[in-house]
Amino acid sequence: MWGLKLNRQSARARELPEEARRQQLIEVTIDSLAQVGYVGSTLAQIAQRAGVSPGLVAHYFGDKDGLLEATFRSLAKGIGERVRERFRLARTPRGRVQAVIDTNLAPEEFDQRTGTAWLAFWGQVLHVKGLKRVQTVYQRRMLSNLRHALKRLLPPDEARSLAAMIAAMIDGVWLRAALSRWQEADSESARALLTDFVDSRLQKSARTDEEPAPAATTRAVSSASRSFRTINPATGEVLAEIAIDGPAEVAAAVARASAAQKEWARLPGAARGRILRRAADILRARNAELAELETRDTGKPIQETSAVDVLSGADCLDYYAGLAASLAGEHLDLGPQAFGYTRREPLGIVAGIGAWNYPLQIACWKAAPALACGNAMIFKPAELTPLTAVRLRHVFAEAGLPEGVFQVVQGTADTGRLLTGHPRIRKVSLTGEVGTGKAVMAASAASLQQVTLELGGKSPLIIFDDAVLENAVGGALLGNFYSAGEVCSNATRVFVHRNIKDAFLERLAARVGAMRIGDPLDPATQVGALISEDHMVKVLGYIARGKAEGARLVTGGQRVTSGDLANGFFVAPTVFDECHDDMAIVREEIFGPVMSVLEFDEEEEVIARANATEYGLAAGVFTNDLTRAHRVIANLQAGTCWINHYNVTPIELPFGGVKLSGVGRENGRAAIEHYTHLKSVYVAMGDVEAPY
Ligand code: NDP
Repeated sequence: MWGLKLNRQSARARELPEEARRQQLIEVTIDSLAQVGYVGSTLAQIAQRAGVSPGLVAHYFGDKDGLLEATFRSLAKGIGERVRERFRLARTPRGRVQAVIDTNLAPEEFDQRTGTAWLAFWGQVLHVKGLKRVQTVYQRRMLSNLRHALKRLLPPDEARSLAAMIAAMIDGVWLRAALSRWQEADSESARALLTDFVDSRLQKSARTDEEPAPAATTRAVSSASRSFRTINPATGEVLAEIAIDGPAEVAAAVARASAAQKEWARLPGAARGRILRRAADILRARNAELAELETRDTGKPIQETSAVDVLSGADCLDYYAGLAASLAGEHLDLGPQAFGYTRREPLGIVAGIGAWNYPLQIACWKAAPALACGNAMIFKPAELTPLTAVRLRHVFAEAGLPEGVFQVVQGTADTGRLLTGHPRIRKVSLTGEVGTGKAVMAASAASLQQVTLELGGKSPLIIFDDAVLENAVGGALLGNFYSAGEVCSNATRVFVHRNIKDAFLERLAARVGAMRIGDPLDPATQVGALISEDHMVKVLGYIARGKAEGARLVTGGQRVTSGDLANGFFVAPTVFDECHDDMAIVREEIFGPVMSVLEFDEEEEVIARANATEYGLAAGVFTNDLTRAHRVIANLQAGTCWINHYNVTPIELPFGGVKLSGVGRENGRAAIEHYTHLKSVYVAMGDVEAPY
């Protein structure tokens, strides 16, 4: 068989045109290097493999060194071309750095055949002049590509030194993998290692000077700090430059709100409700357009934003539109001489401050009850996602909301601080981190503003051994990977009963493995980009800590940079098994696609472990035992709970946390309590008896 193949090859070789024949001999040389090494790869041996005479090889390449130099040059040229190809796709400097990493550590370079040939050359560069020349050019090109891209992100000195480090790491990672016969690292883990390294270095030295680099730092505040840019985290594309509102703009907004609120509160509830309902209808009619904008601003898949973000905002407006006409106090019988009644009155001007994970939905969840109750709202979206709140303002205007009743101010935490503690703003509703919640609460004390705080979590999901396994797996997936894990109520601590843990993990890994990561605008994509490079670095840092602390990585665990995703901030859905309660990934909020699976035996034990956290936002239980389900839920310290499901949030059900996860409730009738005060009125029906 071998002889037959050789004869056919040699027949073909003789027919080939010059350039193709040279290339064929180079390919044969790579085969030879991979199989018999540098010393064994003689001119005669290669000629025999190629089925040509040694004279023909000498005719093309001179001697063995010439042939090997041409082979090395061909490998280096191939990489150079592939890097250039990737550069055409990369739209940002960070993307170009990634192109160098991904190309040099691509699976084809880790392939046994090519990799062994490279290794043979590395061993000879110090001894063979021609090889040294090729290697020098190859190294210079890599360094200059890296330096050129990094200079857009860092000061020149730092760019030079980081470029040298990246080049050294690429060579080092590759060499170690080759010497371990590709046991120590594969292409994917090698790229993830380099990507983590570059991200952490860039994060440390990210500059915010005159020419912000959008892909490197999403918080690209301009030199005068009067504006900031928002980017598409899936591509690095700048979407808009937004002016920052300072004290003067906030003061003007408060003045406008003050005038408008009085008129708005005078309208009958039914009239306010009609306007909110019209706004809900407009949102639904614009679902496609708004969902696309939200996807561009957040990186979340369009299949989510078009099914949830806009429509749940519309549902919320509808719900409070319905309640607006029924807001009422109560009548209190105080005997024949008097009665009392209460009036439910608006607070006045209220502020909403939003997080970046559900920008439009959060704006609606805050605006709908506030406006239904007759308040005016000034809303500040997160700086990372400023776009859809402005659209909501337009929708309200189109629905007939009077000017000034719903306004949007833009900016960083400083703009937020102008709202908290403002003496004429009577309430702040914040969705954000625990630390921000504490800062807002402290600032609000100055004017005794009311607060609703929807904060972070580290919620438990408990799966008993009588649960319907497929449902439990589905619940765990919904509770960890929707919106790439950027959901406050996520069940990131999944407690699974020992009897079913193996079966659970098997189904879980299969379903996670089938998830589609990709362009968020592609309707088939199920996992989009994380919100920013900083956030991705944080999430990858937790993954590294999980591994270092001894958790077993079941699936995922790396940044995804394949194809067009290189410029975005994508992280594969990640599952850790063999987790312990004291690991950082189990204790701290990651806010990314990272699930920790923990094993348990007893009901009492798992309740105690589930509650052993400072958070208390949400919790879930999967079991077919009706009494156990209610018993366990009653004992869990959480504001929002699910039995045999997870993360569904109908507007009718109040939503919020206990312990450090928050204060107050959004949604349901409960939110009305937080946007009104009660005025108590005593009405005398007889004479006034005074002892004086
Ligand atoms: P942050 O707390 O960082 O920011 C939230 C908002 O507060 C942003 O608009 C931010 O402005 C603003 N802000 C920051 N500091 C202050 C301050 N001192 N005074 C006034 N405003 C301030 O949260 P993220 O945007 O990072 O969102 C993620 C967090 O939100 C996670 O912890 C998550 O769990 C939580 N979350 C909670 C939800 C819930 O319902 N319980 C739902 C969704 C998210 P800027 O962005 O411009 O800095």
